[in-house]
Amino acid sequence: MAQTPRVAIVTGAARGIGAATARRLAAEGHSVAVVDLKEGDAEATATAITSEGGTAIAVGADVSDSDQVSAAVAQIAERLGPPAILVNNAGVIRDNLLFKMSDDDWDTVMGVHLRGSFLMSRAAQAHMTRQGWGRIVNLSSSSALGNRGQANYSAAKAGLQGFTKTLAIELGKFGVTANAVAPGFIATDMTRATAQRVGMDFEEFTKAAAAGIPVRRVGQPEDIAATIAFLTSEEAGFVSGQVIYVAGGPLD
Ligand code: NAP
Repeated sequence: MAQTPRVAIVTGAARGIGAATARRLAAEGHSVAVVDLKEGDAEATATAITSEGGTAIAVGADVSDSDQVSAAVAQIAERLGPPAILVNNAGVIRDNLLFKMSDDDWDTVMGVHLRGSFLMSRAAQAHMTRQGWGRIVNLSSSSALGNRGQANYSAAKAGLQGFTKTLAIELGKFGVTANAVAPGFIATDMTRATAQRVGMDFEEFTKAAAAGIPVRRVGQPEDIAATIAFLTSEEAGFVSGQVIYVAGGPLD
């Protein structure tokens, strides 16, 4: 089914899963606001999209800052039109075992994942409900099921699942769906940082992870982008409040 061109926002889209998602949504015909902490970092993704014939702008904003979020969404609405698709992808890790985890490790992770998704969704839904159409996708994680060294991150990613279901309940009558994608191991700078933390070479780390995954490979950012492309499509209008694990196999 051909997609009606919409305005899409992807946060944390300078690299990794966000960059692949921004490119994929642009390929679907949407105009994409590439949001990241620094506008300069978002430029590379926006330029890649325009050089492929798509429409994109780079926007700098810290998603955990209320004023920056309001300003960014207003700027996007003015430059591209009212947003109808939002992908809350921006993320950070501050891994540590509980006894070593600092207040700041906790607050930073909650701030970006939970507060950031809340602020972005609240700002964007005003435009979506007015249009009577919208798609929100939140990035959860297989870590929501529990993961050593990630008390902060797993709590935030589990929290996003409850947040997603509540948005689906509140916004459904306005034509807005909300779903969560929970990736397993995806090869990005984030998993590179984890390999470094545990003192492993990234290739060895990836190989070891792949051995435990039923499809015998780790995921690529494009695997997640493809799932998000479906959830933000016209034909996904009856799928809402779901958490889709994209992990190369089932998880407990
Ligand atoms: P990544 O490569 O580390 O990219 C994350 C992006 O988010 C970076 O560009 C980062 O900017 C940006 N960002 C961080 N804090 C921000 C803020 N406050 N405001 C705006 N942007 C901010 O991560 P990824 O692996 O692609 O992960 C993307 C999402 O998927 C995250 O939510 C992550 O938790 C989730 N996820 C990833 C995996 C995986 O295996 N990779 C698995 C499950 C879930 P800077 O570079 O400036 O920090």
